[in-house]
Amino acid sequence: MASFAPVNKIIPFSNVDGPGNRTSIFFQGCCFDCLFCHNPETIHLCVHCGDCVKTCPAGALRLRDGRVTWDDKACVNCDACLKTCTHGASPKVRQMSVEDVLREIDRALPYIDGVTCSGGECTLRNDFMIELFAEVQKRGKTCLVDSNGSFDFEKDPRILAVCDGVMLDVKAVDAAWSRELVSFAPDLVLRNLDYLLRAGKLYEARTIIFPDRDRENEETVRYVAEHIGDGCFYKLIRYRPFGVREANIPRMGEFTTDAEYAERYARLARSLGASKAYVV
Ligand code: SF4
Ligand code: SF4
Repeated sequence: MASFAPVNKIIPFSNVDGPGNRTSIFFQGCCFDCLFCHNPETIHLCVHCGDCVKTCPAGALRLRDGRVTWDDKACVNCDACLKTCTHGASPKVRQMSVEDVLREIDRALPYIDGVTCSGGECTLRNDFMIELFAEVQKRGKTCLVDSNGSFDFEKDPRILAVCDGVMLDVKAVDAAWSRELVSFAPDLVLRNLDYLLRAGKLYEARTIIFPDRDRENEETVRYVAEHIGDGCFYKLIRYRPFGVREANIPRMGEFTTDAEYAERYARLARSLGASKAYVV
């Protein structure tokens, strides 16, 4: 094993990243730039400009030989560095080997049902994930991929051979809305929706319900519900403004989507055959 990947965070026990209790691995780096991203510090890799070193109150950051290093023991998790960074990055990222990640998984192993890889966008670390999942499967645990759909699973299905399923974000089906919302055309995401369903690897489709976006919400929910039927779960996520970049709030909204408004779309999805639609 020789693969390394930048890891933003590992949550040893999570009950919101797939079925049961799971260890969730969040890789750094994403190919989308979603207006509503709650963790915009995971989008880019650090360019070692050094700006955040000056604002760290705990002396946890150092600039050495043109590279910023992070001392996790000194860090007090105040997030001043994340607020300082204008590059959509974080200095609190570890370059980890597959063995490093496995060591953390093994500590949680007796208590978990499986492992979920997320991001950022985890399929940007496909080779790493393939090695990791092969080892996790030997330990008898399930493996899930949480993806924005930017990776062509049909063209390169190697990851599907070592994972139990994919949780796929379908954020928009309208081309103009998709480009505005996530900076990406929807075509590949929608092809992935069909392919993963046919391959029996679509664990869950997910759509964010935005406040006062009746046309866009309905178009996306209709499309997904008609495609998936009862073939997988359909999670409708209420938009929440927490963590969203301040500059994007005027376009995205400053309030959480109303629960009853979101339920309306769950009912629509179920009426179209997506019997496993639910709101969170
Ligand atoms: S969160 Fe960032 S700024 Fe705060 S102590 Fe840790 S490294 Fe320093
Ligand atoms: S995390 Fe951001 S501010 Fe800190 S060194 Fe990297 S790019 Fe610069």
